[in-house]
Amino acid sequence: MAGKADIERVVSDICGEMRARSDRGEVATYIPELARVDVGAFALAIVDTEGNVYAGGDSDTPFSIQSVSKVFTLTLALGKVGDHLWRRVGREPSGSPFNSIVQLEYERGIPRNPFINAGAIAVTDVILSGHRPKEALGEILRFIRFLADDASISIDEAVAASEQRTGFRNVALANYMKSFGVLENPVELTLGVYFHHCAIAMSCRQLAMAGRFLAQNGRHPTTGQQVVLAGRARRINAVMMTCGHYDGSGEFAFRVGLPGKSGVGGGILAVAPGKGSIAVWSPGLDASGNSRLGQIALEMLTKRLGWSIFSA
Ligand code: GLN
Repeated sequence: MAGKADIERVVSDICGEMRARSDRGEVATYIPELARVDVGAFALAIVDTEGNVYAGGDSDTPFSIQSVSKVFTLTLALGKVGDHLWRRVGREPSGSPFNSIVQLEYERGIPRNPFINAGAIAVTDVILSGHRPKEALGEILRFIRFLADDASISIDEAVAASEQRTGFRNVALANYMKSFGVLENPVELTLGVYFHHCAIAMSCRQLAMAGRFLAQNGRHPTTGQQVVLAGRARRINAVMMTCGHYDGSGEFAFRVGLPGKSGVGGGILAVAPGKGSIAVWSPGLDASGNSRLGQIALEMLTKRLGWSIFSA
């Protein structure tokens, strides 16, 4: 079993190695505001199940969590409507890019899973029902602040506005689902909430804190509250494992062996059940829109600590 000193050494080795690499991938440019981020940034933070925090690199620098927010919206929507959610969205890997539209036509407007854009928009629509957009967004933000024990987490309005101006594909996906009756609310309201929760800014330290409940059978470690029942935490982890990296999900499972969720801001939240919550950030992406160095860093980490869920 890896002890504190081992974890400290692994974090510092990985941060040192990742700083020096030149093959960093490309930052996302389709959301203009994300194109301004320094591709040289790198951060890694781990919170173990005893509450010890290990952090290296730019681990206090906030970045746009983008699709990592979908872990938290999925958790909230399951809390609101329970397993009925699975009538509105599937839980199978898509094998297609995160913003793909073709599959939606074959599957009559029901998105494959809650982590591709279409699925996450449908999940956001569930959270919005019965509320005004501001209230729904407030609920999402309050939930993340509670999970992370950090009231300072906020939305980067410039990123939200940037995506609102250029998110034409998401508008297409939402309208397409609306035509099948999969969305209950006006498309522009659902998308407004979606763009804003994607624009939440967090540091790796905050993100690793927010993921703790998934490593601890659904329990919030500081309050002792059950955020979700253990069975639900297990299932959220399963969906992260199978669908969290879009068409790169198989590769991530193969190389890293942990439930994980990526975002086009270059962040990844990974969960080592019973061991810890891990956040990594490197803004350069691979062809599937997943952080290039983030995946390499997590692969090194699970190998060195024996933290893959497939390690006995
Ligand atoms: N907000 C982004 C989008 O909808 C999120 C995509 C992502 O992080 N993969 O395109």
